[in-house]
Amino acid sequence: MSQHFTPISTLGEFGLIQRLSDRLADIPRSPDLIEGIGDDAAVYRAGEGILHVITTDALIEGVHFDRTFIPMSFLGYKAISVNVSDVVAMNARPMYATVTLGIPRNMSVEMLDSLYDGMRAACKKYGMELVGGDTSTSHALYLSITVIGEVAERDVVFRRGANVGDFLCVTGDVGGAYAGLKILLDQRQALKDMGDDYEPDLEAHQYVIQRQLRPNARLDMIDAFKKAGIRPTSMIDISDGIASEIHHISTKSGVGATVRIPALPFDPETRAVADQFMDDIDAYALFGGEDYELLFTVDPSQAELVDGLEGCSVIGNIEEATKGIRAYSPDTGLLPLHPAGYQHFDPDEDNPDNFGLPESKHIL
Ligand SMILES: [Mg+2]
Repeated sequence: MSQHFTPISTLGEFGLIQRLSDRLADIPRSPDLIEGIGDDAAVYRAGEGILHVITTDALIEGVHFDRTFIPMSFLGYKAISVNVSDVVAMNARPMYATVTLGIPRNMSVEMLDSLYDGMRAACKKYGMELVGGDTSTSHALYLSITVIGEVAERDVVFRRGANVGDFLCVTGDVGGAYAGLKILLDQRQALKDMGDDYEPDLEAHQYVIQRQLRPNARLDMIDAFKKAGIRPTSMIDISDGIASEIHHISTKSGVGATVRIPALPFDPETRAVADQFMDDIDAYALFGGEDYELLFTVDPSQAELVDGLEGCSVIGNIEEATKGIRAYSPDTGLLPLHPAGYQHFDPDEDNPDNFGLPESKHIL
């Protein structure tokens, strides 16, 4: 055993992924493997003109969710949705899922029934099947899902296809999941402060809470793209926030980008929450994450098609790599946009308090 002990925190999440994938580098690569580690899903050839994609994602109690705040059926639904979202980000359709469950002793059969009701509802919505898995006892509830999807070779979209001059676009509205998290954390604190007499008031915030607890993958949008004749040049789903996702597209495509802040689409309920907490709503969209919308680029010749498509917004431009990643607003002009914050607020990127997101991005 090595005598060295290097804390994983010194690498960061993406540094860790790079280090682990480097350790696999001498495994001979199959000629049928088209995309390995480094996109939303791995892609391999399954037949003439047919590609399969495969992705896996886990939800862990105490890290990704608080069991007192998410109904079991929502948790099951979310676990499927977050995986389908990665499949959709390749412009693919989900087909099959397997699930590994770690079950703590304090869970009942009825709770597991409810968890599976949520997974069943999601599978029906996305037209896919749950075909197997594994169960084990565990200290905390643990759900890991793997999804396989399919896409015609001519339709697959990677993170690496953005070109200088492309338009940067997003589906739906953004920042809602973080607004929902703010409300849930606030209500949890109120419950702690006031005890059993307190009745949570969630009525006015149903939309943003649903965005946080029971998100939908945008499989409907890839159908809408096809119908409208839109062919994204690159695509990624929004799990960590627009700022982080645009860095992935830029790194993989070798380009820079400008995000036009006033063009970010918000739901009125998200605005109301940001106003209530006196937060910068733009930070919800850029750094909040978990919206599971699609961030994508199109050739300028397709900008009008995107403009004409309900539920799609053009929010920026792809530029030369030398320009870096920037955010533009009339108030501040152009500013460098880092994956986790605006540079000018605080050059220390590790300080989570420097862009108005005081709590953890996860529910604990
Ligand atoms: Mg993703």
